[in-house]
Amino acid sequence: MGEPTMRNVASLDAAGIETLIADLGEPGYRARQLTSWLYGRTAPSFDAMTDLPARLRARLADEWTLTLPSATDIRHSSDGTRKYLWQLADGVLVESVGIPSDGRLTVCFSTQAGCVMGCTFCATGRGGFVRNLLPGEIVWQVALVGSDFGHRVTNAVAMGQGEPFNNYEATLGALRLMNLPDGLGIGARHLTVSTCGVVPGIDRFAREQEQFTLAVSLHSAVQETRDGIMPGARRWPLPRLRQALIHYGDSTGRRPTLEFAVIAGRNDSPQEISALIAFARGWMCHINLIPVNPVEGSGAERPDPARVAEIAGLLQAAGIETSVRIERGTDIEAACGQLTQKHRAQDD
Ligand code: SAH
Ligand code: SF4
Repeated sequence: MGEPTMRNVASLDAAGIETLIADLGEPGYRARQLTSWLYGRTAPSFDAMTDLPARLRARLADEWTLTLPSATDIRHSSDGTRKYLWQLADGVLVESVGIPSDGRLTVCFSTQAGCVMGCTFCATGRGGFVRNLLPGEIVWQVALVGSDFGHRVTNAVAMGQGEPFNNYEATLGALRLMNLPDGLGIGARHLTVSTCGVVPGIDRFAREQEQFTLAVSLHSAVQETRDGIMPGARRWPLPRLRQALIHYGDSTGRRPTLEFAVIAGRNDSPQEISALIAFARGWMCHINLIPVNPVEGSGAERPDPARVAEIAGLLQAAGIETSVRIERGTDIEAACGQLTQKHRAQDD
């Protein structure tokens, strides 16, 4: 028999960390200390965890690997937004974005490297799928962006690369670590998951105890249009999605956001807007209009700002709560849908 295989500490969620500590015969509070070192303080090694006994640090280092993501590139936008390209332990690359505003710091993080859903307007979808991220790899992105800004992260959104509900366990494990006081201490309501409409994931999310926030990428309430631009979401037709969202609102008392990226000539016609009103009427939701961000080769064109304002007016007149997303970081391709694996390497 050879050496036991080393395991990656980032694969553990909060319960996994507790089990690990218990298996080593250590008292329960050591789990909180370890969580705090890993995510609250982003310790680079077990050896750096100075208030853990030397014997425990040595055992951990014998059996577990700890490799922080390394920032291979950081781009700064003129509006203060920063985009990060992280290299993970196995060399895989993912991106996150830090968005400061009025004393808040929001981090947009990835849950997968790449994505299988293939949305035509999204740079991630156009690049294919690489792998799921581990809970720790998700939390580290958020923690490290906070350290780079030297500011507490107040909000975190799963709107980077990947479909969070295609990596449900790790995403929820990461949200809980972000929520824990010994982790990042971010309030559950300030932790948002965005899904392209994976109905079983929405049903499961509705049963979670924490008050996490849900956003759904709708982008069209006309089945044919939606099927065309979001091929991976075809499995869950619009009436089924609507039903799942109504059920989510009823069982949690929380209002999901419907994200609608307005694409000129594609989903901005009067028929599209009528279908959107019919979809959103009569239940608790909020619509967020996003003028589509340019992605090379996608053919998705930005609408005239006046048309976006007009659509917002029509929705509000129909009694639907609506906002228009303020664009951040477009100059560094850090805006929604502009995240890829490539980054600077593209330009080299
Ligand atoms: N996979 C999840 C979360 C990541 S995408 C999802 O699809 O919801 C985060 C958000 O950016 C989604 O609403 C997505 O539809 C949107 N998005 C993708 N490409 C975009 C683009 N080019 N312009 C504007 N929003 C885009
Ligand atoms: Fe995946 Fe979301 Fe991009 Fe669609 S929009 S390809 S679901 S990351």
